[in-house]
Amino acid sequence: MSTLITNVGELVTHERTGEGTTRWAAHDDAAIVIDDGLVAWTGPASRAPSADEVVDAAGRAVLPGFVDSHAHLVFAGERGAEFAARMAGLPYSAGGIRSTVAATRAASDSELDTNLRRLAAEMLAQGITTFECKSGYGLTVEDEERSVRLAAQVTPEVTYLGAHVVAPEFSGDHSGYVDLVCGPMMAACAPHAKWVDVFCEEGAFGPDEARAVLAAGRAAGLTPRVHANQLGYGPGVAVAVEAQAASADHCTYLTDSDIDALASSQTVVTLLPGVEFSTRHPYPDARRLLNAGVIVAIATDCNPGSCFTSSMPFCVALAVRDMHMTTQEAVWAATAGGARALRRDDVGHLSVGARADVMMLDAPSHAYLAYRPGVPQIAAVWTSGQRVIRSRHGD
Ligand SMILES: [Zn+2]
Repeated sequence: MSTLITNVGELVTHERTGEGTTRWAAHDDAAIVIDDGLVAWTGPASRAPSADEVVDAAGRAVLPGFVDSHAHLVFAGERGAEFAARMAGLPYSAGGIRSTVAATRAASDSELDTNLRRLAAEMLAQGITTFECKSGYGLTVEDEERSVRLAAQVTPEVTYLGAHVVAPEFSGDHSGYVDLVCGPMMAACAPHAKWVDVFCEEGAFGPDEARAVLAAGRAAGLTPRVHANQLGYGPGVAVAVEAQAASADHCTYLTDSDIDALASSQTVVTLLPGVEFSTRHPYPDARRLLNAGVIVAIATDCNPGSCFTSSMPFCVALAVRDMHMTTQEAVWAATAGGARALRRDDVGHLSVGARADVMMLDAPSHAYLAYRPGVPQIAAVWTSGQRVIRSRHGD
């Protein structure tokens, strides 16, 4: 069945550049036709072809669904008290992950699955039509394996993050834990995953340990991504570029040589402004990255410790207000940028032939995502051409 969405006030499509990426493109008074799960036609509303079903957007904006390239959704427990303490002046430390590890290990598969699906549904209601999901709160072979196995039931973008933090029982034996991550844990997890990730940071994993994890992942058929330079300057970005990682994530503290290395690579920088908001850390310098020609994505980093938001509109608002991205740059980064960070060319844009992952805002333009922060504005969402979210304003 074909669907025509017409009278679109602003249709954000992005357009292909011929270099395997897309750049911002939007059209006023436009229409889009979805057929067989794909975008079949876009153009002026006055020239729209007929279709089996017609949706009148009544001047509202239509955009590609958000692509969230960084989230940690397989866990149990919550850390609201830790957040409240941090806001009262206590510093964040990576050690807080350990309380989530204990709760995750103690949970049943069905408890983990329920929480994961609840968060995925939350994301969808906020316009996220593709999301990546990491393991990393199990830290045993069995618990990491079930984390990636459960994640693979809700998304194809599954990341094995056994190297999130050293498991508590290996606290005096870093190299023993790295051997486990690269050996039996990798063998158990790789069949369910597409990506391998490592938290390369002082207090987590050093550059040689990170290289070992990424090399073992590559050998098991996984593509690297890296948590890099979140808490301070360090080797994470250099390791990511050297490993030809799809993405270096966080990147709050970057030297000039980090920027140069990123600008001359295909590695996307995924900025996670919800983390800086939720930890009261300084925001990364998005303008410096964009001015240098680095490809920038933004993602939620939804996780129970450093940033418990599943709202991409909130992250777009932060990127605009606090990282000085334009509204167009922020929306591109949350759609096409995320797709680039996941090496996907079928999502994150609405060119003819793209997957029909589409959201309609209850607003006339993309700028409202930042202009009206905190206000629910997702009027309707289609995934692969199927309408899955229909708000009270979305008929
Ligand atoms: Zn993360």
